Amino acid sequence: RETPGDPDTGPGVRQVEGAAWSRVLPTPVAAPRMLAWSAEMAARLGLDAAFMDSPLAAEVLTGNRQLDGMAPFAANYGGHQFGHWAGQLGDGRAITLGEIVNASGERWELQLKGAGPTPYSRSADGRAVLRSSIREFLCSEAMHHLGVPTTRALSLAVTGETVVRDMFYDGHPEAEPGAIVCRVAPSFIRFGNFELPASRGDVDLLRQLVDFCIRRDFAHLRGRGGRSEGEPLYGDWFVEVCERTAAMVAHWMRVGFVHGVMNTDNMSILGLTIDYGPYGWIDDYDPDWTPNTTDAVHRRYRFGQQPQVAYWNLGRLAGALSPLFDGVDALQDGLRRYVEAFNRAERGNIAAKLGLEACRDEDVALMQSLRELLKAGGIDMTLFFRRLSALDPSALSPDLFGDAFYDDGKRAAVMQALQEWLAAYAARIAEDPLPPEHRTALMDAANPRYVLRNYLAQQAIDRAHQGDIGGVTELLDVMRRPYDEQPGREAFAARRPDWARDRAGCSML
Ligand code: AMP
Ligand code: MG
Ligand code: MG
Repeated sequence: RETPGDPDTGPGVRQVEGAAWSRVLPTPVAAPRMLAWSAEMAARLGLDAAFMDSPLAAEVLTGNRQLDGMAPFAANYGGHQFGHWAGQLGDGRAITLGEIVNASGERWELQLKGAGPTPYSRSADGRAVLRSSIREFLCSEAMHHLGVPTTRALSLAVTGETVVRDMFYDGHPEAEPGAIVCRVAPSFIRFGNFELPASRGDVDLLRQLVDFCIRRDFAHLRGRGGRSEGEPLYGDWFVEVCERTAAMVAHWMRVGFVHGVMNTDNMSILGLTIDYGPYGWIDDYDPDWTPNTTDAVHRRYRFGQQPQVAYWNLGRLAGALSPLFDGVDALQDGLRRYVEAFNRAERGNIAAKLGLEACRDEDVALMQSLRELLKAGGIDMTLFFRRLSALDPSALSPDLFGDAFYDDGKRAAVMQALQEWLAAYAARIAEDPLPPEHRTALMDAANPRYVLRNYLAQQAIDRAHQGDIGGVTELLDVMRRPYDEQPGREAFAARRPDWARDRAGCSML
């Protein structure tokens, strides 16, 4: 059931009721050109280099041509944005091409981001700029290699067209190169896909969507102990969504990733990191930091609040699903399981980041006091933990962390307390049963050497704007092995340079 287009917002733009998606074709672009593609993702899909480098791939992965069997569509969803119900949102610039089932039977959905207007484009243009596309392309693959559940990126291509955004250079809005990322995931369904029909009282559509989602992406839940249908199955499903979300956010906290826009339309039902917009990475440890300049006042989506926000978002999902349940017990149980799963994962993070065989209650306090020191001392999170694993625990001193400090005054202020913390840590290590080489290996597998610091992505973007994609491909390559020492590439592990300080946060649409 669709209402006709609104003459003010364009003929195609409309409220779509009673349907979870709309058929729509990508709008062809002037001069598609492939800039980069992910070797791992292409291999996973069974696409070889000859195809990926062909003009056909550039045409298909920018939406200029559809292959047989493709049936493009845009999904309909709503969402809570910054704590408020925003009504219908939908894929305003993302268009799914179809699915690939690979040789191992894995099913992957291919979606073009920036492929042109859809019924959900509202007042916007359906396009994406090169800078934000590079950020999404690089971060999707970097997160994957860091072991964080995420949507993937197959390709990055330019359209040969320009796009105007509200970024100002020298006081003028500037036309920027348009680009399209082909992103890949088993499903792009978000919490908001369920919230929208629920908000309209469309329980039939809500139930159809839940049944579809479980059938397609949670098939392992069916038939488990006779809970194969109806409310018990829905309850099992909600628990799993809660636990996957907890695991995802715990990974973010481990690697220092700040999503920046955790609206419920940006929460994947599969617990994948989705929608790489104004995301950022923690340099100097600050739980209050957000890269999103539009959130600078309330800081709703700041680093340290992400676990609480995910819980709040699951509460919105629970509310949307409640018409499918007789009471609230199953949904409340799911939310409890989120808290348990997050706490369990967080304790795992503490043990791994500090190199302990297991996390005891007093280790939670040990980590908490370290975090307070990292913040007060203006210390780089990534450099600190990686250095900690490299040092002999019996000979620790704050001087050995010299390049992890950003500010001499803050450094002086925590010197004494950090010395004491290191002594307490050394005492704790001395009584831990893990042999030293196991401890180092555990720490180095949890504490990345390389993360996608904002200034690194920005340097790659600046080069790409000069016509040189080499910065993107090199960074993509570095991020393939984020836990390994990569001789000759130490510069990619360096702390944020002073010139990049003010550029560390930005609004990236
Ligand atoms: P986001 O804040 O990135 O999650 O986007 C929120 C909503 O705005 C989603 O429904 C997007 O599809 C839509 N949107 C963002 N940018 C554009 C654009 N350039 N054209 C059309 N829709 C957009
Ligand atoms: Mg979004
Ligand atoms: Mg976005």
